[in-house]
This record gives sequence, structure tokens and C-alpha cells, in this order.
Amino acid sequence: MANQDANPPIDENDDVMREKRGLALHTRILIGLAIGAVFGVGANILTADNPAAQARVLWVAQYITDPIGQIFLRMLFMVVVPLVFASLTLGVSQLGDLGRLGRIGVKTFLYFMLVTALAVTIGLTLVNTVRPGVGFSAEVQAQLMETFGKDAAERQKQAESDQGFGINTFVNIVPRNPIAAAANTDMLAVIFFALVFGIALTLIPREKSEPVQRVLDGVGEAIIRIVGMAMKIAPFAVAALIYSTTARFGWGLIQSLLWYALCVLAGLSILQFGVFTVLIKIFARRNPLTFFRKATPVMVTAFSTSSSSATLPTTIKTAEEELGVPPQIAGFVLPLGATMNMNGTALFEGVTCVFIAQVFGVELGLSQQLVVIILSVLMAVGTAGVPGGSIPLLMIVLNTIGVPPGGIAIVLGIDRILDMARTVPNVTGDLTAACFIARSEGVTNDERKIREQTE
Ligand code: ASP
Repeated sequence: MANQDANPPIDENDDVMREKRGLALHTRILIGLAIGAVFGVGANILTADNPAAQARVLWVAQYITDPIGQIFLRMLFMVVVPLVFASLTLGVSQLGDLGRLGRIGVKTFLYFMLVTALAVTIGLTLVNTVRPGVGFSAEVQAQLMETFGKDAAERQKQAESDQGFGINTFVNIVPRNPIAAAANTDMLAVIFFALVFGIALTLIPREKSEPVQRVLDGVGEAIIRIVGMAMKIAPFAVAALIYSTTARFGWGLIQSLLWYALCVLAGLSILQFGVFTVLIKIFARRNPLTFFRKATPVMVTAFSTSSSSATLPTTIKTAEEELGVPPQIAGFVLPLGATMNMNGTALFEGVTCVFIAQVFGVELGLSQQLVVIILSVLMAVGTAGVPGGSIPLLMIVLNTIGVPPGGIAIVLGIDRILDMARTVPNVTGDLTAACFIARSEGVTNDERKIREQTE
């Protein structure tokens, strides 16, 4: 983290490893992803008509690949709360004066909100043009409602226990007990406490705040090392996670939901490779190709874990060590981004709301679509960065615009794949925000690195 010279940088170690093994980490992770997908999809398709063979495929998933994937995920999850607290508190306290913190804070929030709103607009444009829900087979609809209705009802209960979206949503951001908030992985509350704690550190005498900052810096360094350890098993774990998902996936469903899935995936691709390329070039003034190459481990981790939170440690490590974002900026922008800036999720929510409305024959006028944009942006802020985190909140949006929330059952069967896909722009959006803020503040951790990247 802040004191990067205290230990040799990890990428130096990685270079040594790379020489020894011949392949860079991100290449090995991509190979793992491809192997997992080939075996998972292959096993799924080849055993489609053979229940005994299917049971063996699922046995491998349950007893071999799930546990390997879970160990990797848990290694990443276990550091999220301490990492968010340490990096955000340190980031805020090192930004110096409150005026600067306020300026960066406002810029960051505006950037998050504008890009998220743009993402939903892209989604709505596509879904209103393609209209995948119009003329959707009533038979398939009934079948899907029956198969996934129970799952949808459970998520509905979760949405209700979230108490909808009201004044309490804001009140609850202030934790009554920060330890309880941390224990419940209530990230908005942890973020609030870290922000206030970081601000308080800037207001007390230096000789008192410095030892605390040094401890937080040490905690952050150690956590980044743990992430380095976890990433060593990433190629195997990613293969295992992808096998587990694709071997179980209902590929047959894709056909009936093809146009809907294509709308979501096309929108996410436009966001990922169109919008972010422009933002990186114009706002962060970097070379987009270099950016995407360096961000590959982050994108692959997001794709295979479907979780912005589980990816956060890798996002911070990559931003600081590969993209040269100063630790105080990475420490401030990225934990906030992993929790509040879900560009891909917002796009998915927009498309899904309108698609389900079309299936149920509910016409959404311009003003209602505007409500979808606003609610999708707000819900994306409240979405937990975990697999399927957006579904309960999406049901609240459906309810608000007069579409039966249980209709979510229609898309639940293919959600896992769309979740993997939307988590990639979620984390890439955080990295673009961090690069933009770093550039706009003119603070660089390593001028040479930045120059190389922009050339
Ligand atoms: N899986 C997404 C994330 O962690 C959240 C969601 O859209 O469900 O970023």
C-alpha cells in the first residue's frame, strides 16, 4: 500500500515466477478459464441424455471443483472487510486536508453516477429496439415460472426483509455497531465508519495519528500479500469455478431467452470495450490496450467469481502495482467502487425490467423508463458485490413500476452466466474511475510507469 518501497514489489516476484514457469499469471488464469469451460460445457452437453453420467458430472462438481473454487473465493472474501477498512481509512487520512477529500469525493460520486446512468441508458436503448419480450412464448413463460417460481419467492422474501427502498436505507448506512456491521459484511456501513475514522485521523495531532496510519499500512501490505498467495492458485481455482458453473448450467434455456441474453451481453460489451475505452483514453489519458492488458487478472477474477467484493483485493493490487494508481487514491476510490459503482449491474437491471414488462404485456412509457433509469442507478449503489446480489433489489424496481416481481423467475435460470458477464464491467468501471481520479489530481505513485502507460 502506501509504503511500497518497504518490500520488493510483488510484480517483481511475479516476473521471477514468470521466468521460471514461462507464462504470466493472467495467461495461466485464462488457460484455466478455457479448460474449465471446455470440460464443463462438454460434460453438460455430452451427458444431457444420460442421467447416470450426469450424476457423475455433478459429483465431480460437488466434491472436487466446488471445494477448490470455494477455498479460493473464501481466501479472497476473508480479506475484504479488513482491506476495505484499512485502505479506505488510510486513503482518507493520507489525502490530507478535508477540502481535497471533499473535492475527490464529489468527483468520484459524480463519475460513478454518470457512468452508471449512461450504462442503464445503453441497456434501455437496446431492449427497446430489440424488444426481446414481445411475443415471448406463453408456454415457455409458464414453464419458467413453474421451475424458478420457488427460487423467485425466496428472493422476494429477501427483498422484503431489505425493507424496500426508503429513508431507512440511508439511516442504516450509519452503523450502530461497526463490529456488527463488519460481521454482517454490511459494506456501506463499514465504508461509512472507515470514512469517519479516516477524517478523524486528519483532525488529531500528527504524533497520535501516525502510529495508527503505520499499523493500517502494515495491515494493507499484509493483505495484498495474502491476495498474492490466493492468486497463485487462481488458474486452478478459476478452472474449477467455471467447470462447476457450466456443468450445471441450463444451456437449453439459452435458446428461449436468446434475444434477452444477447441484449444484456451486447450492452455489456459496448460498455466494457466501447465506453470504457473512450473514458480511459479521454478522461484517464492512458493507452486503453495497455489498460485492458494490465487489468486482465481483475477481469478474469470478476468473471469467475461473479463478485466485485471477492475481486476487490485483486483490483486494489492491480491498480497500485500495475497501473501505478497512488495508494491513497486506489484506497479511497476502489472500496467505494466495489460497493457502489456497479455499471454492468445497472445495465442488466434496466434490460431485465423492460424485458419482463414486455413479457407481461406492461407498456412502460417514457416517464416510467426514466424511473427505471433512476431506480437502477440507486439499486446498483445498494447492491451487494456478491453473486446474484442485484436480484432482490431488481424485484423492488419491478414492483415499483407495476410489473409482477415474481416475473424474475423467467430469467433466474440463466442469471449465473449474465452475473459473471456483468461483474466484469462492474470492476473495470472501478479501475477506470481510479485512473481518472488519479490523473485529474495529478498525483502519481510512479511517474515513469504512468508515462509508459500513456505512450
Ligand atoms: N455479482 C455482481 C457483483 O458482485 C452483483 C450483481 O449484479 O448481482 O458485482
